[in-house]
Amino acid sequence: MIVSMKEILIKAKTEKYAVAAYNVNNLEWAKFILEACNDSKSPAILEFSEGAINYIGGYNVAVSIVKSLIKDLNISIPVAIHLDHGQSFESCKKAIEAGFTSVMIDASSLPIEENIKLTKQVTEYAHKNKVSVEAEIGTIGGKDINISYANINDCQKLLSEANIDFLAPALGTVHGLYHGKPHIEFSRAKEISEKLNIPLVLHGGTGIPDEMLLESINCGICKININTELQVKWSKEVRKYLKDNNDVYDPRKIIKSGEKAIKEAVIQKNKLLGSAGKAL
Ligand SMILES: [Zn+2]
Repeated sequence: MIVSMKEILIKAKTEKYAVAAYNVNNLEWAKFILEACNDSKSPAILEFSEGAINYIGGYNVAVSIVKSLIKDLNISIPVAIHLDHGQSFESCKKAIEAGFTSVMIDASSLPIEENIKLTKQVTEYAHKNKVSVEAEIGTIGGKDINISYANINDCQKLLSEANIDFLAPALGTVHGLYHGKPHIEFSRAKEISEKLNIPLVLHGGTGIPDEMLLESINCGICKININTELQVKWSKEVRKYLKDNNDVYDPRKIIKSGEKAIKEAVIQKNKLLGSAGKAL
């Protein structure tokens, strides 16, 4: 059943667990993730970046894939369809019109007043359509991108003026792979969570040690984004399969060779974060 992400994350916040949001690249990934979450009896958040949406053909394709799989595979868990790192009002609007149940507006590279203005424009439109909104403050690190930590006053201002549903405060995590142990400012997360009292989101969830993920849940994190981990695990298996099966050319066999790795990772993550069994 398709639900609002708010429904999923408010329950997670109240019951103190987190829900992984898995990035979807294509039909197969949506299928593997939905089936694994259904097996875990975990609520599912399937998120699409603008890049993935362009890749698969568009916003309507993304929604149709998820809705059709739910129907044809008899998926019974609550599922939210989320736009990851929406870059403009227009992309959020397109997602909402296509049937996404949640959008992220990432205006974090703008000065705070402009971030608030753009985020507010998105929340006003989204809430009219019963769609929830995630916003970002500070800069999550990445390749050639330096981290800048979320300022608590800015977070409060964004919540009170733009009426967001969830916040991704930059806490020291990075997109992609970590070089060395990640540094997460847990005390900052805790303070933001106490002041704002809305579900917080952790981006760059790949490669964070289990105990740090659990600590982040104690500090108010309710959604943890997982992208690179599934890509790395899937591609490792596919590389191995191709090496061992030199004469294979059926794309279904090639793509499917990474299915088990994705499903095992999803089931393990849902168990760790405490969302497994919560869809009952
Ligand atoms: Zn992110």
